Amino acid sequence: MLVSRLEPEDPRGLGVRHCCGALSWAGSGLNAARRRRTPKHWRPNRILGVAAAVSIALVAIRSVAGSLDSIAVIPQPASIQMHAGMFRLLPDTQIILDSAPQALGDYLAGRLHPSTTYNLRIVPTRAPRDRTNAIVLTTRDPETSLGAEGYSISVTAGAIVIRATEPAGLFYGVQTLLQLLPADVLAAKPVPGIEWTVPCLQIQDRPRFPWRGFLLDVGRHFLNPAEIKQLLDLMALHKLNVFHWHLTDDQGWRVEIKKYPRLTEIGAWRKGIGFGLDPGAGSAYGPDGRYGGFYSQTEVREIVAYAKERNINIVPEIEMPGHASAALAAYPQFSCFGGPYSTDMGGGIYAGVYCAGKVETFEFVQNVLTEILELFPSKYIHIGGDEVPPDNWHKCPKCQARMQREHLKTEKELESYFVRGVEKFLNAHHRTLIGWSEIREGGLAPNATIMDWIGGAVEAASAGHDVVMTPTTYCYLDYYQSTNQPEPKAMGDYLPLDRAYAFEPIPATLEPRFHSHILGAQGNLWTEYIASLKHAEYMMFPRLSALAEVTWSPASGRNYDDFMRRLQVQARRFELMGVNYRRQSLARTAAASL
Ligand SMILES: [Zn+2]
Repeated sequence: MLVSRLEPEDPRGLGVRHCCGALSWAGSGLNAARRRRTPKHWRPNRILGVAAAVSIALVAIRSVAGSLDSIAVIPQPASIQMHAGMFRLLPDTQIILDSAPQALGDYLAGRLHPSTTYNLRIVPTRAPRDRTNAIVLTTRDPETSLGAEGYSISVTAGAIVIRATEPAGLFYGVQTLLQLLPADVLAAKPVPGIEWTVPCLQIQDRPRFPWRGFLLDVGRHFLNPAEIKQLLDLMALHKLNVFHWHLTDDQGWRVEIKKYPRLTEIGAWRKGIGFGLDPGAGSAYGPDGRYGGFYSQTEVREIVAYAKERNINIVPEIEMPGHASAALAAYPQFSCFGGPYSTDMGGGIYAGVYCAGKVETFEFVQNVLTEILELFPSKYIHIGGDEVPPDNWHKCPKCQARMQREHLKTEKELESYFVRGVEKFLNAHHRTLIGWSEIREGGLAPNATIMDWIGGAVEAASAGHDVVMTPTTYCYLDYYQSTNQPEPKAMGDYLPLDRAYAFEPIPATLEPRFHSHILGAQGNLWTEYIASLKHAEYMMFPRLSALAEVTWSPASGRNYDDFMRRLQVQARRFELMGVNYRRQSLARTAAASL
């Protein structure tokens, strides 16, 4: 049965690949490049087929433990011990919930149903009972060393027991179980002729970092709620737990704010798709032909709940004091000189900066954040703080008057004053401010967390601040994935898969006593040139799979060759889930991986 799960001849997943014909860059040569590389795409599968046959021979002996090479879980669990034998999932297998949430039982049964057609019975119980032919989810008697998100799985021929201290750990145990089954289990329709087996084993697993993130910029290009949910599903598959939702920028304001309706009436739309893209590269057009869109508060609440079911916290980002052109197009009175402003059509740094001299600006910001806090339960609220041009503030009498009053010597210090004011407001509401590297310049707000994209992590962590690592060199998923193949237009720099995998989030020069201030890391997808879900997936995967392993797996357990082996199976899962991952990245020759 392992051979059948890896069989390359099955065209099902490949037949439903993706709709790159709809992408603006489909004609750029990428299709031709894909066709040329098709034979290489198969080669690793054939190699795996041999490995699988070997592991089947081992299993046939029964007294020999299964081979680790038959396991393909991403991110790699902290510890796996193989044993002899198999658990067989059958139509009458029960899901037993022992101090475990009903929703999780429903989730597991729901994931198993489409491919297996089984309607597994879910049995909540607190009493000892027959637990053969069962998948048991339990928070009873967990090992405390598993932490809040860790879990253990014990698979014997009789039962699978997933144990954790918290529902979050059970959820991750379920994700691992789904990857221990044949990959076809993730198919959206019945897959006949497969034995749904799990090798007997013992897994102990917990994440290395508490912040395992993914940033999506919907300011430049808009993805609708259904598309956001697809990305949340893909995050859950990878045990990522922070969705950093970049909701506002110069080119668009994407979240409904009841007190300021023009933010979305005006700020959510622009004349065209912009950025020099083909108008057909995206589909986010309103009925009047304008490009854009926004999330109603009802939609935001639905998405937050959907994420929570998948143990994903959504950190909203509301950019200030810069990158605010879309807001100022709607409410120019909160700028230094009254505008006019428009939702911009290209990238770069714009003069759309809130006036830091006007009291009204701070009232506006607080009113917006008040609604944001009602929508998002996240402890962390991201306020941007990057790329603020000082020109307007330098010329503005109100900004200069505030600088004099507050004894601020430079515009950088005025920016710091602005951020500290916002932090006071957030702290008063029991939230933590997080901002980009630049919020350090001019003095860091006392309780702020830094998101390091251009440096500052060591200084901030050494001063007792928490830090999330997103250095451009390793984490910017909008960069090119290849230097020598036709690729869709991307940001000028280059981030290949093996470099993303090699990322070490703890800075080498950071003293060990401050390591705990590094909360984790995340992959960032800025979308200047990315106007569709399919294109986003192409940029995310498999690089985000690599970053998921960077943030979850023990540093000592990481092995790029083994990651590439497991990625072949993950690719099969992508095919079945209709994910447009970058297929060329799976080829192992040096030239192809460039
Ligand atoms: Zn001003």
